[in-house]
Amino acid sequence: MNAAENGGYIQSLQMAPGIKGKKITWINKNGILGFVESIILSQKEASEPFYILDLGLLINLVHKWAHDLPMIQPYYAVKCNPNIEFLGAMAALGFSFDCASRAEIETVMALGVSSDRIIFANPCKAESHIKYAASVGVNLTTFDSINEVRKIKRSHPECALLIRIKVMDDSTFRSPLSSKYGALPNEIESLLQAAQAAQLDVIGVSFHIGSGGNDVYAYRYAIAAAKEVFDTTVQLGMPKMKVLNIGGGFTADTHFNVAVMAIKEGISKHFSEEEGLIFMAEPGRYFAEKCFTLATNIIGKRVRGDLREYWITDGIYGSMNCIVNDHAVVTCSPLGTTSNPINPTCTNAELYKSTVFGPTCDAYDTISTSYWLPDLEVDDWLLFPNMGAYTSATGSNFNGFTTSSIPTILYYSNISCVNF
Ligand SMILES: *Cc1c(COP(=O)(O)O)cnc(C)c1O
Repeated sequence: MNAAENGGYIQSLQMAPGIKGKKITWINKNGILGFVESIILSQKEASEPFYILDLGLLINLVHKWAHDLPMIQPYYAVKCNPNIEFLGAMAALGFSFDCASRAEIETVMALGVSSDRIIFANPCKAESHIKYAASVGVNLTTFDSINEVRKIKRSHPECALLIRIKVMDDSTFRSPLSSKYGALPNEIESLLQAAQAAQLDVIGVSFHIGSGGNDVYAYRYAIAAAKEVFDTTVQLGMPKMKVLNIGGGFTADTHFNVAVMAIKEGISKHFSEEEGLIFMAEPGRYFAEKCFTLATNIIGKRVRGDLREYWITDGIYGSMNCIVNDHAVVTCSPLGTTSNPINPTCTNAELYKSTVFGPTCDAYDTISTSYWLPDLEVDDWLLFPNMGAYTSATGSNFNGFTTSSIPTILYYSNISCVNF
């Protein structure tokens, strides 16, 4: 993108709900450290953690999706990161959303998103949440059990349905989902018949291959399985299905390119003869993960021989819960402060095996016992990149450290392409 295009995006993001009134700083890629330093210097209580969010990278990821998968409309999975500035940016970019609860629907609609841009993609919903969806006109949801059919029939009979199918063993994925969701092949016919008997419209199929995995060929198998369900409806004399929802599971790295290939192959092999089909997806991690960097202050240090131990202002009960819940590998790099200037000194410095602890009084709150870091001091900072997926969203308030109140500061970097 050229400067004028970037300028145009910044201008319209500046007006976005959730962002309006906040500053978006334009920086070039090399300016990130200086940007973070200026934030630290401007803070009064300069030890609280904060996120920086790269809206320029988000735009590039959106462009890459539109370029590689133009036929598939993404519904951003809110649960991955419901950061309000991030959601506001996506709303302003015209995104649609995958919500899993009443509160997520409320949040997204408060940003001005209309109900036809929302799928209630939770296969098992409390009936009160279904009633709420009906009251605001969210008319698309998923199901994988007879009881869900009964609840929807009672509380939202106008709602269109996608049958969520279990695709395969996804136990190699960082966050497998198939043990919890998805109709088994031998359950599909009776579920479709139950929906038909209840006069509900099953308009398509959805699946989720599992989150954060590498086996992106799974999309090919899943698309083949979805086609069988399409065929089953024809055999049962039901109306033709018209929606294929390929779920989430994308990562913003080279696996994405393989996933694109697998999806295109699957669609052209199994669905090229279906006309007027609507393809949708529910990516979370792909858009959120790389756009957020977490900055944490070192508040404590202990030296034991060659070992360095540091305490920082966020940890396993906060953003780094992703290590436990999402099997994430988190990395960090040091950022000095003016009293201990930045990286050039660090990069040549001798490295020490370092343990990094979170701030709570639980020994379990240990982020890593094997980082190699230069000899850092109390009041230095550590930056954790790629902290946007299943981090702040799943953190707790344990011990009075409130993950949900970590502020987010916006910037727009001019990385002109997404290199993967
Ligand atoms: C979690 C979830 C997603 C998002 O998954 P990612 O791997 O983050 O893309 C999408 N759809 C449903 C139904 C989910 O539960």
